[in-house]
Amino acid sequence: MKLTGNLLIGAHEVTATAGTMKALNPATNAQIEPSFAFGATAEVERAARLADDAFDSYNHTSLDARAAFLERIADGLDAVAPELAQRASLETGLPAAQLEAETAKAATQFRQFADVVRQGRFRQATIDPAQPERQPRARMDHRMQKIALGPVAIFGASNFPISYSVAGGDTASALAAGAPVIVKAHNAHPGASEIMARVIQQAVKDAGLHEGVFSMLRGGGNEIGEALVDHPLIKGVTFTGSEAGGMALFRRAQQRPDPIPVFTEMTSVNPTFVLPAALAARGGPIGDGFGERMLVNVGQACLKPAILLAIDGPGYAALKQALTARVEAMHARTMLTPGIWKSYGDNLARRESAGAQRIAAGGKAEGALDGQAVLLEVDGARMLAEPSLSEEVFGPAALLVRVQDVEQLLALAKQFRGQLSATLQIDAADHALAARLVPVLERRTGRIVVNAFAHPQEVSHASIHGGPFPATSDSRFTSVGMTAIERFLRPVCYQGFPDALLPEALKHDNPRGLWRLTDGELSKA
Ligand code: NAP
Repeated sequence: MKLTGNLLIGAHEVTATAGTMKALNPATNAQIEPSFAFGATAEVERAARLADDAFDSYNHTSLDARAAFLERIADGLDAVAPELAQRASLETGLPAAQLEAETAKAATQFRQFADVVRQGRFRQATIDPAQPERQPRARMDHRMQKIALGPVAIFGASNFPISYSVAGGDTASALAAGAPVIVKAHNAHPGASEIMARVIQQAVKDAGLHEGVFSMLRGGGNEIGEALVDHPLIKGVTFTGSEAGGMALFRRAQQRPDPIPVFTEMTSVNPTFVLPAALAARGGPIGDGFGERMLVNVGQACLKPAILLAIDGPGYAALKQALTARVEAMHARTMLTPGIWKSYGDNLARRESAGAQRIAAGGKAEGALDGQAVLLEVDGARMLAEPSLSEEVFGPAALLVRVQDVEQLLALAKQFRGQLSATLQIDAADHALAARLVPVLERRTGRIVVNAFAHPQEVSHASIHGGPFPATSDSRFTSVGMTAIERFLRPVCYQGFPDALLPEALKHDNPRGLWRLTDGELSKA
């Protein structure tokens, strides 16, 4: 596919109105052709108007037509997989084979959401039939279904340049809900973004949908992102990235005359708690498994297990030794962007000055943007005194916490801010202590994992990739898994409607045979 570097607004190619940029190959620190256009507020206006024009027809597409559209995107992604992976690899330094697998995952997500759409359960069709004879007051017929919020803006992530980017789960779930999408592409992978955007643009055309169903914008600085969040026709936002960026956009959206929901996924250290019996029985394998996972994606993963807590005792030395060996065997590898590379170094230095000691390091950096693996250690008392040690260092570093006793372990668990996940390494003799930890963790995480490490993330009906602030800005929702669609839906009640005017999901004879809650009972009646 020939990259033009243009913005894609509906069916149109739009050239630069606010300067251009070139992608950076972080492995060589050299720029890559071609130039990519930046837009400004006029392009936001154009894309938002088109998305709004598209809303009514897209929100009312039949379930089959919408599902078929999502499958077209999946097929399009399959068709460009090698080319997309190659370009994304050049722009991120991540291995092409890993990125091909990420493309397959992205395509699968679109197919999974096509199934969700066909099943129609996301509508949550609910019917309270009329009760004209009810005393003391008759009840009118009430019918509820969920519809899309309206056009939404999606800020793609830098660290998974396909499955959390232009063609990632946010786009798939928003389109499944019936929401037109405007993506603000991440400047760390503009070429990969264009390839994915062209696949979606083509699918919109082939499906005969309104062109405003999808647009992709790009901008230098915050102007374009701010204009998207401010635009009165945008009705929801998703974001994956830094806490500072996510919260800036969240606050902005709450200050609009009509505040809108912003679903940010920001930061998580995914603590792992090793309980005494498990530590004594398999300290070495746990240290090794943790070390392997912390280094995936050069540690640039939202689910990276970054903090390992174990009570000092039998097995602790074996755990430390195995983890140290993993870290020391790791070659320095290219990080995603100069900004992420710099923050990594700065954050490590801050943790060390806060009292964490460097006990192991991997191979030295050779390339300008190489990140060296680092293992820090701190004792539990110091960590309790320095809450900053429980915060994320985005990159290939981890912190081992030598805990004094059970009470200190519980105190440390309570100190964590909101997390995407937490892991318990336990054996049968640890169950009593685990039962004390679980309620502490339930209040702080979206997912609790036993005897595994939290990466990679399943995309399924029960998946939760969310959690209390600052893991996300709204702990009631997930950004991964089939229920991610709920972020883009809102309920509408139709009261006293004649059958001819009711939406398909609520018609009396249930023409699609959907599961519906009728008078409180789930049935296909
Ligand atoms: P970022 O700096 O937060 O940027 C994410 C996206 O949001 C970019 O498109 C960025 O546009 C835009 N943006 C950020 N702040 C904005 C603002 N105030 N107004 C308008 N637009 C704004 O994230 P990143 O570049 O991906 O990585 C930076 C740091 O984020 C990492 O070092 C890491 O700490 C964290 N991060 C965490 C996760 C996670 O899953 N936990 C994932 C990725 C990153 P521009 O590029 O144009 O500024």
